[in-house]
Amino acid sequence: MNTSVTHKLNFYQGHNPIDLIAAYGSPLYVYNEKIFRQRCRDMTNLTTYPHFKVNYAIKANTNLTLLGIAIEEGLCADVSSPGEAVAALAAGFAPSDLFFIANNISAEEMAFAMERGILLSVDSVSQLETYGKLNPGGEIALRFNGGIGGGHHENVITGGDETKFGIRAVYIPEVKALLTKYGLKLKGINHHFGSQNSKELYLEGVEELLSIARHFDSLEFIDFGGGFSIPYNKQGGEAPMDFVVLGQSLTKYMESFSKECGKPLTYIVEPGRYISAECGVLLGTVHSIKENGGNKFAGTDLGFSVLARTTLYESHHDIEVYGSPRDGEYSPTNIVGNQCESGDYIAKSRLLPPLSEGDILGILDAGAYGYSMSSQYNHRPRPAEVLIREDGSLQLIRRRDTYEDMLINML
Ligand SMILES: *Cc1c(COP(=O)(O)O)cnc(C)c1O
Repeated sequence: MNTSVTHKLNFYQGHNPIDLIAAYGSPLYVYNEKIFRQRCRDMTNLTTYPHFKVNYAIKANTNLTLLGIAIEEGLCADVSSPGEAVAALAAGFAPSDLFFIANNISAEEMAFAMERGILLSVDSVSQLETYGKLNPGGEIALRFNGGIGGGHHENVITGGDETKFGIRAVYIPEVKALLTKYGLKLKGINHHFGSQNSKELYLEGVEELLSIARHFDSLEFIDFGGGFSIPYNKQGGEAPMDFVVLGQSLTKYMESFSKECGKPLTYIVEPGRYISAECGVLLGTVHSIKENGGNKFAGTDLGFSVLARTTLYESHHDIEVYGSPRDGEYSPTNIVGNQCESGDYIAKSRLLPPLSEGDILGILDAGAYGYSMSSQYNHRPRPAEVLIREDGSLQLIRRRDTYEDMLINML
């Protein structure tokens, strides 16, 4: 066993991943409650400024049990669709703790939020007009796009001229005209330009959003958005972001802007993956070993219907091998899935010890955008989810799909 394996076994709090697979089936998402709670607390303790909220972007992981723990930890939530709102309400969030950050939604979806008392943020002048017609005299928030973008892949950068998100500052006069025309109260503004690891970039975004906030005097809150990434390549030495320094800077910005406005505004951050990524490991099984022209392939049950990030974004996930100690040289190995698509891989040319059929792999830091992006492609049942509670006990928090589940809407 290499050292990272030994290290990571702490994650399982004494349980053996091989036994977990035997008990719950393969593949399997395993979560650790302690780590989830710690990540929530990292965020709620980010600043000493008193009017501060952490809105967990629940699209990262919507498991109801995890959402319930987030509520216990004092988090509020961002939802991006009515379905996510239904999940958040089912988990026990109050409507006033939810913020529906919408993109290109229908009038019906706007009405859904209004009827349930969930504040809505729209992100275009045209959607603001639609909302004004639906709910004259109502409250609204707006997502701006100050121009900065950041992220590990172009598909996750959500600021700047190249993305579909947010209202550019040049449209502030049109926005103001519509707010007046429909008697709308602008309660808050928000932005989100992508998840990344640079506190400098995050703070640049804060300044950008505050400069937009100066155009509006009705604001009760300013939402600096997300997201904070996590070090996905810990085995390669990647380090986490320095939240102490970031928090201190944020506190200064919040205090001085509230002073400038002459009232104690509420400030919000929106971590998604930071909350749930590191508390989750995806376990899977090696079913085939082969070489094609010198390229090694380990074929697993970890297709992109189970974990889409690696195929979608070429994301890196650290990998651990469980089982008996093994001898032999590490060599570049492609870890691929069982889906009928050539883009179906978990890792390319990863240096791994010799693998054999029956080995159990742990795909680390898979708690965010893992299950929530999974699908039933190839009519493969989505996996079960199991939670290791703080006291070490195991709780099945979502059962595996059955074959019948996959037919039910068509019968
Ligand atoms: C998804 C999202 C987040 C969180 O992003 P991560 O990549 O999970 O950090 C924050 N805010 C908004 C508006 C989002 O859509």
